[in-house]
Amino acid sequence: MPGGRELVRVADWAPGELLYSLEARTQRDCVIGDPRAALWRLLGSRTVIPSADLPCHLLQAFGRFGQYAGFSSVEDLIARTTLYPYFTFFMPRLRTAQVLERARSGKGNGLKTFMGLVANRFGASVSLRYCERCARAYLRGFGDVPWLRSHQLPGVCVCWRHGEPLHALPKQSSMSHRQRLTTALAASGAVCLEPQSLRHAVRFANLSHSILQAGSIGRSGDRHAKAYWRALKHRDFTRGNKQIRWSALSQALLAGAVCSEDAALVGQLNLCAKEPPGWLRSLLGGRPTQAHPMCHLALIDVLFDSLSGFLDAQSDDDRALVEQIPALTPGDTAEIAGLIADASLSCRQVANTCGLSVSTIAKRRRQLGVPVSARPKTVTVHLVQSVQADLISGANPSEVARRHNLSSSSVYRILSSPALAATHKAKRFASARDAYRKQWLRKISKAPAARVADLRRTGGASYTWLRRHDPAWLDAHLPSRTLS
Ligand SMILES: [Zn+2]
Repeated sequence: MPGGRELVRVADWAPGELLYSLEARTQRDCVIGDPRAALWRLLGSRTVIPSADLPCHLLQAFGRFGQYAGFSSVEDLIARTTLYPYFTFFMPRLRTAQVLERARSGKGNGLKTFMGLVANRFGASVSLRYCERCARAYLRGFGDVPWLRSHQLPGVCVCWRHGEPLHALPKQSSMSHRQRLTTALAASGAVCLEPQSLRHAVRFANLSHSILQAGSIGRSGDRHAKAYWRALKHRDFTRGNKQIRWSALSQALLAGAVCSEDAALVGQLNLCAKEPPGWLRSLLGGRPTQAHPMCHLALIDVLFDSLSGFLDAQSDDDRALVEQIPALTPGDTAEIAGLIADASLSCRQVANTCGLSVSTIAKRRRQLGVPVSARPKTVTVHLVQSVQADLISGANPSEVARRHNLSSSSVYRILSSPALAATHKAKRFASARDAYRKQWLRKISKAPAARVADLRRTGGASYTWLRRHDPAWLDAHLPSRTLS
């Protein structure tokens, strides 16, 4: 392969390979010793952490080497070399778009928190894993050993293809130098994982792999929930219409494929709890935003056996939708019908996905009774200027979008100009600072004799914020008792 900008040559991408792995092999082939210099040449940043599962800065990665490695676009790069398809599979479309936008342009700060991976305590770090038989096969057929992405899926401890236990390095977050790119050939200190039940582990690996391969289909949480409820009733896990027979279901889940080398991961599912855990309530309520794919996998395994069983259960809904939509052209599939009926998506988003015009989508939606918002057809110079003015004054982007009847992404596109972004950020910071300062002074004036510890107890947000962001001012404005 020819070299990219700043790179002598770009390694050939191996089918199934992680982006992280392609970066590591390219660094090795270009003989770049210093990890930060490598990151600069590969990603245009010396400080970015090259995440193995959910990398960011991908627009730069595509421009610098992705296109030379044979990828047609950033989306193609994301779909074939990262674990995003696995994580976005169950996400609503809008959320998926927000996550992928951060992957394209963001530095990765707070991405895993945004995706709920930190809040739901499933862990936000991956340990690099490989299968010995896959490694030998790649070495014979391809001449090198890549890290394969299906081996890095959460909770997977065996190779889905060979059914053999994987070998794992320590978690990326506990590595001493997280900016170092490690090739699978040079990896040392890997330990062989020991699944509790090989049969279950293979089932789980296959199910996880099929999610990754299926890519994002963006069905709404409601449709997943419907399919789950139907299957729960069918398998006698319900009492009445809305009550789950939790003890029976938890037994089935415990005995099922939720078999991971990492007991902590299974622990997060809280299967031994007396009541149905929060994740189950949110999946069945159609609010899956924060649910880890492992939660879905656990349910799918017990209720449908396979991913295709789960998808088939939803295609009944698709057929119902198709019947509802009048004037359907022969080219329309059930998937398109579902998109048209999904009011959480804008007409433009659906049009882009289906390859139809925005007005066709709007027309079909009106026929169906799906609300269509009247957005301006073009973003005029005048409109851009008013949006800029609002942003300069520090207004919240979603508020600005509502005010001007624009999509959030249009507002964020305008906000992407570095100068405007800096002004907006400074303004937001100043107004938060002023608000917290006022709040803090009010607290002191109400209780001038109180100690700092007491003030913090009765509402510590202002103290915490000011301690972190405005410490000099805070020190100059402590209660008089503290100062004396
Ligand atoms: Zn293998």
